[in-house]
Amino acid sequence: MPPALPDMDAEARQAADLYSWRVPSVWAKRIDWHNPNDPLRRQVMPSAAELQSVAGFTVDPLAEHGEQRVPGLLQKYAGRVLLQVSGHCPIHCRYCFRRHDTYANLPHDRATWAPALQWIAQDPSIHEVVLSGGDPLMVADRHLAELVQSLAAIPHLLRLRVHSRMPVVAPKRVGVRLLRGLTTTRLTPVLVIHCNHAAELDAAVLAGLARLQQAGILVLNQSVLLRGVNDDADTLVALCETLVNHRVLPYYLHLLDPVAGAAHFQVDRERARALILELQARLPGYAVPKLVWEQPGQSSKVAVDLGKTLA
Ligand SMILES: *Cc1c(COP(=O)(O)O)cnc(C)c1O
Ligand code: SF4
Repeated sequence: MPPALPDMDAEARQAADLYSWRVPSVWAKRIDWHNPNDPLRRQVMPSAAELQSVAGFTVDPLAEHGEQRVPGLLQKYAGRVLLQVSGHCPIHCRYCFRRHDTYANLPHDRATWAPALQWIAQDPSIHEVVLSGGDPLMVADRHLAELVQSLAAIPHLLRLRVHSRMPVVAPKRVGVRLLRGLTTTRLTPVLVIHCNHAAELDAAVLAGLARLQQAGILVLNQSVLLRGVNDDADTLVALCETLVNHRVLPYYLHLLDPVAGAAHFQVDRERARALILELQARLPGYAVPKLVWEQPGQSSKVAVDLGKTLA
């Protein structure tokens, strides 16, 4: 278990009152608690900096509240929809863009999922459903399996994607029933994990990722570029190499969404661009994630312009 937060000052406690402190014990064990700059500690430790209000950093940076089709169902991009199936997470990342979301009225069982399923069923242009949250793997295996079955019954759906930090923060969650639930329909299963630093990938996590792959699931990773966590080339190279050495492709490296309370994690665009160019110079092409950011109203995530990369 993590220690009882020995060095939380009054302001950090206030930050934890606004967005509660949560870190699973297996993940907490990877932290050097005596080091205030430990990159894992920094992702989860409430801090006074969260209380500062910074221009441009807002409670709903992606304007998601305008994007709901029916409760829990977001469509921003053609061909795919995002279904929020849980408002809970096993960990509270301090930089989370949904940290102010109350997740009101999210569907959570067969009856409340029905409107989303109906909405998807009436639009044949949708080929992929992304299960998200919160963390979709907070939902019990039995309910998830039921949901996946219902999705597989919609003929125009081809792929099932899960966006979850669970395999990284609680690898035991990757069990036989989960694997069965995700892989026993005609839908092609894809799981996108969220890992920001190679130190998050210990033997138990890597074993869980291997179980996912052996079950036939395509595993990708997305990271957020975070100041003081992974904003240097050696750290990113180590992360990407560890991932591909274990057959996980780095998919996206996201610029921080400007959410209130997270400004101290921001890495400026020029620095981000320089980091990616260095990764391109040091890694095989398939090991370099796409540097993207999200701009409300765009038809996809927006790639950061890297300018001329060839001499
Ligand atoms: C990010 C996101 C997706 C997935 O986008 P990809 O570029 O396909 O990974 C889908 N729906 C919503 C609402 C999203 O925010
Ligand atoms: S796991 Fe994802 S959704 Fe959950 S707190 Fe972290 S960033 Fe937010």
